[in-house]
Amino acid sequence: MAKRDYYEVLGVSKGASADEIKKAYRKMALKYHPDKNPGDKEAEEKFKEAAEAYEVLSDENKKARYDQFGHAGMGGGGGFGGGGFGGGMSMEDIFSQFGDIFGGHFGGGFGGFGGGARTQQARGSNLRVRIKLNLEEMLNGTQKTIKVKKMKLAPGATSKTCPTCNGSGVQIRVMNTMLGQMQTQTQCGICQGIGKVADKIPAGANAQGLIKDEEEITINIPAGARDGIQLNVRGKGNDAPFGGTPGDLFVVVEEEEDAQIKREGDNLHQELYISFAEAALGTSKEIPTVGGKVKIKIEAGTQSGKILRLAGKGLPSIDNYGKGDMFVHINVWTPQKLTPEQKTFFENQLQSGEMQAEPSGKEKTFFEKVKDLFS
Ligand SMILES: [Zn+2]
Repeated sequence: MAKRDYYEVLGVSKGASADEIKKAYRKMALKYHPDKNPGDKEAEEKFKEAAEAYEVLSDENKKARYDQFGHAGMGGGGGFGGGGFGGGMSMEDIFSQFGDIFGGHFGGGFGGFGGGARTQQARGSNLRVRIKLNLEEMLNGTQKTIKVKKMKLAPGATSKTCPTCNGSGVQIRVMNTMLGQMQTQTQCGICQGIGKVADKIPAGANAQGLIKDEEEITINIPAGARDGIQLNVRGKGNDAPFGGTPGDLFVVVEEEEDAQIKREGDNLHQELYISFAEAALGTSKEIPTVGGKVKIKIEAGTQSGKILRLAGKGLPSIDNYGKGDMFVHINVWTPQKLTPEQKTFFENQLQSGEMQAEPSGKEKTFFEKVKDLFS
C-alpha cells in the first residue's frame, strides 16, 4: 500500500501552523483512539498513521526534510528515531511520545462519555520504576522484562452501589439563599465519585479491595533512549478499585556505568593499552563499541597519549540527526618485568644512544589534544 501524504493524513494544508497541526492530530487521535474503538484494527492503523504523521510534522527538522524530499527523505536516514516508524511503532511508543496530547482526555474522566451519567471511573494510581540500561541497549533499543510491585484487585473483592449517592457519584445539596433555593452538585465523598463501595473484602486486601502483588511486565525501549528519559506504559500501574482503569507505569531510564566506555554527551571515550612493541611496530586492535567490535589500526611509532577519533561511533544525538564520536585514548604500556635478555637489549640501546626520545616539536601537548576534542 502506498504511503499517504502526512498532510493528507492529518487533513491539514501544507501551510498549516504548528498549532493547527497539533489540533488536527489531537482530533484524529481522539477519533481513532483504541479506548474508543476496542478491537477495531482499521481504527488502530489510522491511529498509528496519524501518530507517524504528527511525529514528523511536529518536528521542525523532520518536517523540513519531509517537505523537501517527501517520504523518501524519511526512511533509511539512520538518524535518531529513523527506525522507529514505518509500521513498527507500538501503541506504547505513541503514548510515551505524545502522552501530553492525550493527557486530559483519557484516564480519569473517560467514564463520563456516553449519556449523561456522572459517575467517574475510578483510576488506579501511577507507578514509577527505574530501569538500568547499558550504552548498547540505549543505542539500539531493547526489550526488558521487569518485576513490578503493584496493587491489584484482590480475587473475590466485590462492590455494591454506594448507599450515600445511590450510585450517581454525586451529592446534591440544596441551599437556601437570598435568591431562592440553589442546588450544588459535589462529588460523593464516600465513593469518590465512583458510585460503588466495597462489599466483600478478602483477607489481606485494603478497604478498596486492593492487595499487594507483583507482575512481570515487558517494556520495549526505543533506540536512542537516554539517561533520565521516561517511558509511559499505559494501564500497567496500580489497579483501580472495583474495575476502573488501572494507572500507568512510568519507566525512568537510568544509564548503567560501563566498565570500559565512558559517555560524555553524545561522545564516548575509552582507554586502550598497547605494549611497547605494538607501539613501535604498529598493530591492529579490536575494540568494543556500542554497535559491536571494531578493528582499528595503530600506526608504527604511535606515542602514548594519542587519541584516535572514530567518527559516528558515539551515541545518536537527541536533537538532530547527527551522531557522536568514539575517542580511543592510547596508552603505551611500559614493561614492568624484563627477562635477562630483554634487560640486556635495553641496556645496549641505552649505551649506544639508540631509542632516545626525539620529539619533533610537532607533538601536540595535552592541552592541544583536549582543545581538538571540542573543536
Ligand atoms: Zn457515593
